[in-house]
Amino acid sequence: MGEAQSALFPNYARYPFAFVKGEGSRLWDENGKEYLDLMCGIAVTNLGHAPKRVGDRLKEQIDTLWHTSNLYRIPNQEKLAGLLVQHSCADAVFFSNSGAEANEAAIKLARRYFQKVLGQPERCEIITFHMSFHGRTLATLTATGQDKVKEGFAPLPQGFVYAPFNDAEALEKLVSSRTCAIMLEMVQGEGGVNAADPSFVKRIVELCEEHGLLLIVDEIQTGMGRTGKLFAYEHYGIEPDIFTLAKGLGSGMPIGAMLGKEKLREAFSAGSHGSTFGGNYLATAAGLATLEVMLEEKLPERAAELGAYAVGELKKQLAGNPLVTEVRGLGLLLGIGLTVPAGEIIGSLLDQGVLVISAGPNVIRLAPSLLISKEDLDRGLAAITAELAKKAAAAAV
Ligand SMILES: *Cc1c(COP(=O)(O)O)cnc(C)c1O
Repeated sequence: MGEAQSALFPNYARYPFAFVKGEGSRLWDENGKEYLDLMCGIAVTNLGHAPKRVGDRLKEQIDTLWHTSNLYRIPNQEKLAGLLVQHSCADAVFFSNSGAEANEAAIKLARRYFQKVLGQPERCEIITFHMSFHGRTLATLTATGQDKVKEGFAPLPQGFVYAPFNDAEALEKLVSSRTCAIMLEMVQGEGGVNAADPSFVKRIVELCEEHGLLLIVDEIQTGMGRTGKLFAYEHYGIEPDIFTLAKGLGSGMPIGAMLGKEKLREAFSAGSHGSTFGGNYLATAAGLATLEVMLEEKLPERAAELGAYAVGELKKQLAGNPLVTEVRGLGLLLGIGLTVPAGEIIGSLLDQGVLVISAGPNVIRLAPSLLISKEDLDRGLAAITAELAKKAAAAAV
């Protein structure tokens, strides 16, 4: 293992083992140990591991055609875009290979709309929020409202302004004649599973209307049923001008998407933006099968029900635990706020064969498959609450 890793850059703090097989909410490691997966990679495998219908579609596509470039029509891409448009507020889709690239496309589209369509090149600034996460490319790490992802990467691109999350008054003061867009996650995923307040979102929409700003919603983690709606903006009764998808879109196949309103179409005129691999036959086959399963089996509704149940159970089971500050979440994106670092508890759960992930230093994040059985969810929640009870008892001694 040590030798195999030595050929890699050390940019990931990896656990020193690998999984060799996955099925539904189960994973197995090299020693045959079984794990219950409550994190789905990082909120990616929303249909569980190796979902059959997606796998079948991929196998069929593997035997047929992999790549032709975006110089030609790609029927899978057109079908997936059509289905996304049919089930969202958007009118047009651009496909990328990752979330960061989808956000890059959103940033580029917003700027180009003001520069080329409206003829207002001075309006190039995008307001983003403290503790947001938008990706690791230079523009998207600059958009991200956390200093830790920026260290050592100067000079950074210009044109980003940061506002405190859920603080409408502070945001208002930052809107200027240079602002072109406001960009946010409806629930900050990496930042600690923090949902935007409905009143805050309402004010954002008003500000966008008053000042002619574009509203960009990063749904890379919250989209694809995760929060109990197909897209998290639906909880707020709003329609973003642009939103982005990636994590859950391809069930683990790399694919991202940037979706926008009709008026933005001409800002991405032919030749203005592109990607060699974006929207290729394989990725869009996975995306299409994933979205079809999600819609047919009403998985957003299932996530809403199971998520509400899980929050209730956690609140009940963790009541009085002094290590727990809050249980929060939307659908099956849940956070348990702690007074202590989450890392050690996550490590103990891993030893017990239960996979969860952190969201910042003091939050345990759960993002189980939208198809997880109630029995598995109960078992996972029981393991978490037992571990937290054990830690609290040890701390009290
Ligand atoms: C994961 C994530 C990204 C970045 O996606 P990549 O595919 O890693 O580039 C951007 N925004 C949000 C909200 C994310 O959760």
